[in-house]
Amino acid sequence: MNILLKNININENQLMKLQNVIGRNLNQEEIALAENIMSSIQDLIQLAGDDPSRDGLQESPYRFLKAILEYTKGYQEDPSEHLDKTFEVTHDDIVLVKNIPFNSLCEHHFAPFFGMAHIAYIPSDKITGLSKFARLVDGYANRFQVQERLTQEIADAINKVLNPKAIAVILEAEHYCMCGRGVKKAGATTVTSTMRGMFEEDRHARAEVLHLLK
Ligand SMILES: [Zn+2]
Repeated sequence: MNILLKNININENQLMKLQNVIGRNLNQEEIALAENIMSSIQDLIQLAGDDPSRDGLQESPYRFLKAILEYTKGYQEDPSEHLDKTFEVTHDDIVLVKNIPFNSLCEHHFAPFFGMAHIAYIPSDKITGLSKFARLVDGYANRFQVQERLTQEIADAINKVLNPKAIAVILEAEHYCMCGRGVKKAGATTVTSTMRGMFEEDRHARAEVLHLLK
């Protein structure tokens, strides 16, 4: 073993790109952390049995760090704020937003999971723009997650801001790892859901939303 590439320094170009990903500047302490991480990824490559100084791997520690920051940029915001712009309504029909695509990162293995979110609610007195739900989902999906908590966090945010009579959040996802329940085969889908308010308590409301979601 004679691989010593230690004391990585982030260059200006790399720093700028990392800051673009998270939408703010990194302070000195964070830059030091980033350099430590890149150094550790070199160690990981070496431990796995490859040479971190070879052409294809030289930039990999930086690329890995950038990719992880991109996957977790939801920490830079409070996703529920996307719902803040509301409109008064008087009707109490179901509002349904289907097939919102999302990508997330399993918190146990940092392996991607991805799929579709479906959100339904019955407003009490306010609604929000439909496109806001996509941003809400992204804000929580772009973190270290488990699918079950992601489902609950989306419902909690809708409950907090819109205080509707009913909420249904359903997530269908494929996982690139063996976490979750049981051994997964390629193409297997994990479905998680939460029903609140009338969708939980009222049989007819529940049947109606499940029918709409088919
Ligand atoms: Zn996992």
